[in-house]
Amino acid sequence: DAAAAPPALSAAKAAVRAELEAEHLSAHEKLLAVRRRLPVYPYREEFLAAVKEHNVLVVVGETGSGKTTQLPQYLHEVGYTKLGMVGCTQPRRVAAMSVAARVSQEMGVKLGQEVGYSIRFEDCTSESTVIKYMTDGMLLRELLTEPDLKSYSCMMIDEAHERTLHTDVLFGLVKDISRFRDDFKLVISSATLDAEKFSRFFDDAQIFIFPGRMYPVDILYTKAPEADYLDAAVVTVLQIHVTQKVPGDILVFLTGQEEIETCAEILAQRTRGLGSRIRELLICPIYASLPSEQQAKIFEPTPPGARKVVLGTNIAETSLTIDGICYVVDTGFCKQKSYNPRSGMESLIVTPISKAASRQRSGRAGRTQPGKCFRLFTAWSFAHELEDNTVPEIQRTNMGNVVLMLKSLGIHDLLHFDFMDPPPPEALIRALEQLYALGALNDRGELTKQGRRMAEFPLDPMMSKAVIAAEKYGCVAEVVTICAMLSCGNAVFYRPKDKAVHADNAKQNFARGGGGDHAALLRVYDDWADANYSTQWCYENYVQVRSLNRARDIREQLEGLCERVEIEMTSNPGDIDAIAKAITSGYFYHTAKLSRSGDYRTVKHQHTVYIHPSSVLAKTAAEDPPRWLSYFELAFTTKEYMRMVIPIKGEWLAEIAPHYYSTKEVEDARTKKMPKVVGAASTAQRPAAS
Ligand code: ADP
Ligand code: MG
Repeated sequence: DAAAAPPALSAAKAAVRAELEAEHLSAHEKLLAVRRRLPVYPYREEFLAAVKEHNVLVVVGETGSGKTTQLPQYLHEVGYTKLGMVGCTQPRRVAAMSVAARVSQEMGVKLGQEVGYSIRFEDCTSESTVIKYMTDGMLLRELLTEPDLKSYSCMMIDEAHERTLHTDVLFGLVKDISRFRDDFKLVISSATLDAEKFSRFFDDAQIFIFPGRMYPVDILYTKAPEADYLDAAVVTVLQIHVTQKVPGDILVFLTGQEEIETCAEILAQRTRGLGSRIRELLICPIYASLPSEQQAKIFEPTPPGARKVVLGTNIAETSLTIDGICYVVDTGFCKQKSYNPRSGMESLIVTPISKAASRQRSGRAGRTQPGKCFRLFTAWSFAHELEDNTVPEIQRTNMGNVVLMLKSLGIHDLLHFDFMDPPPPEALIRALEQLYALGALNDRGELTKQGRRMAEFPLDPMMSKAVIAAEKYGCVAEVVTICAMLSCGNAVFYRPKDKAVHADNAKQNFARGGGGDHAALLRVYDDWADANYSTQWCYENYVQVRSLNRARDIREQLEGLCERVEIEMTSNPGDIDAIAKAITSGYFYHTAKLSRSGDYRTVKHQHTVYIHPSSVLAKTAAEDPPRWLSYFELAFTTKEYMRMVIPIKGEWLAEIAPHYYSTKEVEDARTKKMPKVVGAASTAQRPAAS
């Protein structure tokens, strides 16, 4: 049986366990013993010598070898933090938080003191912080106030292989800093072997490889393509749990929160159905907006006799390492941003992963013992259908935000900015056009006063423009609330299957009075505030309390930023038109018009789009569809859906964005009768509620 652990390994494990359980060891000493067993530990001195010698170092090592948690500590231990902080960037907030928590534990300090983290809308650091984990987006923001990063002695750009938009932009900026700051140590860290490319970009930087330990992983494919990968994942997990003799936990790769929750629900139901005939199966979801107590749960050791199944997104690919995984279920999909620079349409799409990502995923099964990876696609599909590598985000995203930041940093010649892989020129041009239309740039491409104010907000330029425009319409307080609700990253409404009717009624209550989803979110927040931010109120109204708490937090920060750029907190809650106009001032790109055939088309490019089934307008729009809508974002599942919509008027577009819309485009054919079939047609078009 290939699955049995080799005797040497079992002995080593027993020794570790004995040491860990030794009563004379304090918790701290036990952690120290664990740290010393990580694959990077034997290379500590060599690594430190390399950092001393080279200002830029590219490090490569298997996921889980200890790069993220150990290297910043090593730098701290030999005194670099006496000269400035040691920073470490992460592409994902969950990773930044979780790793900081782990390192504070290892150092025996309180999180937020010597070891802290900083993510958008949440700064968990203090005066005494010396090791700081942060998202790559936050470091980019910090550069706005400290362009030379002088409060840092070392910066580790971690997970470089992920090639997120922010990391890619950081590459160019920190490269420049390391050229003129002799006292600055830069570590670029990656989990894959594309180190040469990083090295070349950083003026042929030294490469440091941590040899990894990896056990063999058996790869199993499905014989035929799966029609429903979610269902296939559930079945595979149960099969592993029942038939695989080797104890060991399961890691399932799914595409997002909703899918993870559905999968968790089905698994719980089916295991309940099997009752005591099977061993206990602990179901642990992990995704960005999960509260940190629950995130910590995935790291807890599985009790003897039970098995843990972790349901995660590609966050578990390389950013987080969960010990004890020996089975991986790979659906072969992830959610990815896609952007069409010609139409300016950006959408989240469930996309097949690359071969490289699939290899990373299967690698998670072989970290501590031989494992198995169940790929829910065929071997043929792997060989012929998957791309070799994921396209860097910079080549498939809207650059608006980043261009605004670079302009604020005084970087004007974007076409010649030092990108490792440049974005498509059309995407840059589109971003410049968009920022011009939003009033952030003048016709020479220079930052305007308004652009400077917009850049203060850690929001998409469209959203920061809406906040600034609200000043003119006297409804800043309302628009700030709406933006906070849209930014809280979670579903606001709660819809348990057994109480779906009640939940839908409660939600529809907030929609009364018009203003679509935006106004509904505003009413939810205001009513909750009136109820003294009560948790009970949330339960009664089928609203997720943690989403609201987060929105409250974000709202406070946005209010502070408004004060900083001298925007007065005007308020006019009853004036839905004023609110809708402010929103439109930012989101005039995101507009759709009811077509003659009864579906919606984007105003500028005539793409067919649909109201998302979760919208408060999804039902009413069938009978009485608003002629013009502004939407928050597009999400593609079975169709191109508009998420979060607010009814607007066509003539506002000519008034608000005359440089973008011609009068003809926004003409409302009010005098021409709409064809009679509209109602029926749009009923037929209405997306099935999922
Ligand atoms: P790398 O960055 O090389 O992928 P890490 O430094 O993230 O590796 O992880 C090293 C080890 O630290 C992991 O194998 C895991 O056992 C442990 N670890 C990391 N984060 C946590 C956490 N939040 N809780 C418990 N253990 C953790
Ligand atoms: Mg790491």
